[in-house]
Amino acid sequence: MKNYNLLIEHQCPQCGAPATLTETDRLFSCEFCRVRSYLMPGDHFRYCLPSRAPAGKSVFYVPYWRFKGMLFSCVSEGVRQRFVDISHQAVDNALFPHSLGFRSQTLKLQFASADSEAQFLPPEQSLAAVMRIFQTRFRLRLPQPVYHQAHVGENISMIYAPYYAESSLYDAVLNETTGRQPPAGFSETVAGCPRLDWQLRFLPTLCPKCGWDLEGQTDSLVLLCRNCASAWQPGRQRLHRTRFGHVATGNQEEVIFLPFWRIRADVDQVVLDSYFDLAKTANLPKVPREEWRDIPFRFWSPGFKIRPQTFLPLATKMTLTHPPDLVADQLPDGELYPVTLPLVSAVESLKVILANFIKPRKTHFPRLPDITIAAAGFRLIYVPFVRRHHDLTQPQFRFTILKNQLKLAKSL
Ligand SMILES: [Zn+2]
Ligand SMILES: [Zn+2]
Repeated sequence: MKNYNLLIEHQCPQCGAPATLTETDRLFSCEFCRVRSYLMPGDHFRYCLPSRAPAGKSVFYVPYWRFKGMLFSCVSEGVRQRFVDISHQAVDNALFPHSLGFRSQTLKLQFASADSEAQFLPPEQSLAAVMRIFQTRFRLRLPQPVYHQAHVGENISMIYAPYYAESSLYDAVLNETTGRQPPAGFSETVAGCPRLDWQLRFLPTLCPKCGWDLEGQTDSLVLLCRNCASAWQPGRQRLHRTRFGHVATGNQEEVIFLPFWRIRADVDQVVLDSYFDLAKTANLPKVPREEWRDIPFRFWSPGFKIRPQTFLPLATKMTLTHPPDLVADQLPDGELYPVTLPLVSAVESLKVILANFIKPRKTHFPRLPDITIAAAGFRLIYVPFVRRHHDLTQPQFRFTILKNQLKLAKSL
C-alpha cells in the first residue's frame, strides 16, 4: 500500500528539537522536552517544498492546492465513488506546471512561515474552482448524465513550490532551469507580492474549561477531557466545545467506540422531518409506524477515515437505522477510536447519503442539483463495535468493518 501522507520537518516550538511529522498529525508530543501541543492551522495547513537554491537567490513560492479525499458522483444506476489525491496550481500561470506531480510525496516538506524572507505568490483560484476542474475531468469517464458530484475532503492544504528567476526560470527544488523565460517585468511583480500572512499556531493541550490534560491520539481532530467530560474541536483561533454522546452497550470488554457525526439538517424539496418520512423516502421494507413521526430525522456520517466504498454504505446504514438508546454528554468507558474526519467533511457528504437511499432514483436524481441541504446542528456520537479477530462488528445495526481497512485508511 502506497502511503499518501506527506512528511513534514518540524522543530519543537518549546525546545527547538527536530522532529518529523506526517500531515495527519495534530497533537505533537516532543520526544525531548515532553511538551504536548496542538497544531492549529486556521483554515488549512500551508507547506513549502524544500528549496535547494544557492545562497543569495531571490526565491519565490508558487501556491498549489492539494486535495485528498473522496469524490462521489450520482449517475442513473446509483452513486459512484473514488479516492483522489490531487494537486493543482492556485495561480493561473502557464510558466509553472499544472500540478506538483509526485514531488510532494517524495520530499520532506516544511511548514510555511510568515518569518520567511521569500516572496509568496498569492493564490488566484479558490479550491472550489480547482475542484470544479477535476470534477469536470472525472465526469468525462462516467456514464452520462451525472446528476450531482461531491468531494468529501480528508486533507486540504496549500503546498508552495520554490522558484527563482535569472535569465531563465529555475526550479529551486531541483536547482535546474525550467528552460522557460519569465516575461518582462516578472521579477518586479514577484517582488511586489505581499508577505505570507500565515503562521502555524500551537495550543497547549489543556482543557479550556477545567485545565486538565486533554486526551487524544496524534491524529485526533477532537480532544477529550476525562475530568469534566467535555470534547473539543479546533476552530480558527481556539478550541471549541463539541456536544457529544454515545450509544449504550452492555458489553464493555471487547468493544471499541467509533465516532460518528450525527447531523440535523434542513432539507428542502424532500420531506424528511421524522423517521416516518425517512421510511417513506427510502422505501424501507417495513410499514411506517405512527410513533415514528415523533422520532426526528438525523443524518449519520463517519467521523473517521475509511475507504469511500465503505464510507457511503456505512453512513447510509447508520442514517436508516437511527440508533436509539443515546447517552448524552457522557464519554463511554472503553477505547475510543480517534475522530480523523472533520465535521465539515460529514456536512459535504449529506447530499450523497440522501442520494444513496432516496427512492425511486429515476424521479429524484434529476432533481438533485436543486435540492439544498443545510446543516443546522450536530453531535459527535460514539458507537460501540465488537472486536473480532479480523473485523469490528456492530451487532445492532449489522455492519462489519474489516480491521485492515481502518489501518489502511490511516495512511490514505
Ligand atoms: Zn521540545
Ligand atoms: Zn475539563
